[in-house]
Amino acid sequence: MLPFLRTDLAQLAAYQAHPQTPPDAASAIAPPVLDRLDTNESPVDLPEELKQKLAWTLQTAIESNRYPDGGHHALRQAIAEYVNESAHLPAGFGAESISVGNGSDELIRSILIATCLGGNGSILVSNPTFSMYAILAQTLGIPVIAVNRTAHFEIDLAAAQTALTQTQAPPVRVVFVVHPNSPTANPLTPAEITWLQSIPAHVLVVIDEAYFEFSQTTLVGEIRHRPNWMVLRTFSKAFRLAAHRVGYAIADPAAIAVLEKVRLPYNLPSVTQAAAQLALAHRAQLLATIPELQQERDKLSAALSQHPALQIWSSQANFIYVTLNGDISPATLTAIHQTLHQQGTLIRQIAGGFRITVGTPEENARTLSRFMGAIATLPSC
Ligand SMILES: *Cc1c(COP(=O)(O)O)cnc(C)c1O
Repeated sequence: MLPFLRTDLAQLAAYQAHPQTPPDAASAIAPPVLDRLDTNESPVDLPEELKQKLAWTLQTAIESNRYPDGGHHALRQAIAEYVNESAHLPAGFGAESISVGNGSDELIRSILIATCLGGNGSILVSNPTFSMYAILAQTLGIPVIAVNRTAHFEIDLAAAQTALTQTQAPPVRVVFVVHPNSPTANPLTPAEITWLQSIPAHVLVVIDEAYFEFSQTTLVGEIRHRPNWMVLRTFSKAFRLAAHRVGYAIADPAAIAVLEKVRLPYNLPSVTQAAAQLALAHRAQLLATIPELQQERDKLSAALSQHPALQIWSSQANFIYVTLNGDISPATLTAIHQTLHQQGTLIRQIAGGFRITVGTPEENARTLSRFMGAIATLPSC
């Protein structure tokens, strides 16, 4: 360990996009074409004509020698309109209620800086959930309080309430939930929402709606009455812009103003802002593909459910969470993962199960046959 570094960082592993595929091993065993179904991206690129428009914008309208618009004014206005439309709020939010980040990951870090840094707070999460909240908190020396979920992956509300009221030095300042949750794909229940509503005003409630376009359930309307609530969304999933890194937060303008203070001044490249505006301008076209993806998801879920060894969890997102019935060792799960990887299907092994992104119909057909094939080789199946 280099002597000038914080000692707590020695224990921390860097985030890996594809954790089960060490680069050397992957290149040695993986076939040339991989079905990349481990990071919940859209399986299809932007339509060709939109890529051409974006290229044209880059060539003609973006001055490479100039800094980007550091206030993201046009983009924030366009996002506000989309948010209002998505939540059926005719006179809803304006640009002052929106902050944009270099992916919602950046917004998560800004939230942590604004609330917990310097011994001011801990965060509360309920596992299994999106790992980035805890990872980013740890990089900032912020304590992470984790409570478990029940057998059906609902938050253990009694444990969460105890953690909320009893955590001291520093107290819980932010509760992070995903709606619907990753990796388990279930939306918040009415009981969970009621609990979130009971959280006092000195604790920030962050509802991560990264998969909103697939679930069509949003809590964004609550923000108008709740200055301690914030909704996060992203362009990385339904809007097919993972390469461009755009996420946004919706909250009370006072909270948004603080996120704007703590972020880097030019956090979004000009071409990224243009890509997000283009996607929003063509949102009807882009979002029209969602019903087909939902049908593919339900078809894949139903087909996998046929196998008695598999438990398929109901999904409101663009991925499916699968667990195996009975006493399955981590080594067995890893073997299944490896088998699929060798055949060209990359999925995420996580929290004692598998998270499988819904891909194209062809990818899903391959997923089904390869997964069933891998399960069939298990001694107990
Ligand atoms: C994919 C995902 C995000 C998106 O992160 P970006 O940084 O915007 O790409 C955020 N939250 C959750 C729960 C996700 O699954």
